[in-house]
Amino acid sequence: MTRIAVLGSTNMDLVAYVDRAPERGQTVTGREFRTIPGGKGANQAVAASRAGGDVLMIGAVGDDEYGVRMRENLEHSGVDTDLLHTAEGPSGTAHIVVDAKGSNAIVVIPGANGTMTALGPGEVAAIAEADLLLLQLELPMSAVIEGARASHAQGVRTVLTPSPVQELPSELLDHVDLLVPNEHEAAELSGYDDPHAAAEILLGQVPAVLITLGSKGSLYAARGSRTIHFPAPDVTAVDTTGAGDTFVGTLAVALGEGRPIPQAVAWASAAAALCVQKPGASVSMPYRSEIDGA
Ligand code: ATP
Repeated sequence: MTRIAVLGSTNMDLVAYVDRAPERGQTVTGREFRTIPGGKGANQAVAASRAGGDVLMIGAVGDDEYGVRMRENLEHSGVDTDLLHTAEGPSGTAHIVVDAKGSNAIVVIPGANGTMTALGPGEVAAIAEADLLLLQLELPMSAVIEGARASHAQGVRTVLTPSPVQELPSELLDHVDLLVPNEHEAAELSGYDDPHAAAEILLGQVPAVLITLGSKGSLYAARGSRTIHFPAPDVTAVDTTGAGDTFVGTLAVALGEGRPIPQAVAWASAAAALCVQKPGASVSMPYRSEIDGA
């Protein structure tokens, strides 16, 4: 079984479903409200575990009701939470508006995630024992860099989702093996809207890039090899929240199992397409048997 360490966030998603998202200064009446366990780290952990990985979550929840629920949610999907700390204060929350087309807009309040400024020896050892490390940017940058350094030093493959997008220090990029931005993040990081041009620029900073393009699929580029476009399955999206995390978590399992990039991306695309057809993020992530059957 592929051993995957996820160093990342847990957030309770507070989701308002609306027909049309409000413009600045506008108030709209929505259709429904739900609280759904999320956070990019936890979502990638759930996706990877459901896809068949042996997954360890490193991070922090608050000492509130949301923290209890988020821990239970991870454990329910088979994720090891021994290194998921309980910090004093509120858990992280994500305030999400989903419109009738399934598009979303999100505000994240870090809460307990903000307490993860450094790693302890237990966390460093757990990363060193993993096959892959999944990183995002919802924890303090100091911890993300420390995690990347620890994995790189041990030859553990390091995958970074650069979200929420921000300038990436070279102390982080020097330790990243695969960068997986969505097309907006790729444009912001590279200064180019065209994904091919963006990939070329990003390859100057990391050895491989996989840009996700929503319903248009994804684009893979690696130093010294041909750029490949992978289509996404043609499905009707209900809610795209968590599509990117499902994609990355599933991809990590496939890579850890030694599948080549084309097979790994096709499998991850099938999983993400299943995710967008249901509401919510982690609750809509498919299990291995569903992905294989898609
Ligand atoms: P999110 O922030 O909503 O979780 P993201 O912006 O990080 O997602 P996207 O590029 O939107 O990431 O989607 C990731 C992957 O999910 C895509 O590469 C694609 O494989 C799949 N996907 C997303 N939207 C659709 C869709 N409408 N139909 C089929 N597959 C989709």
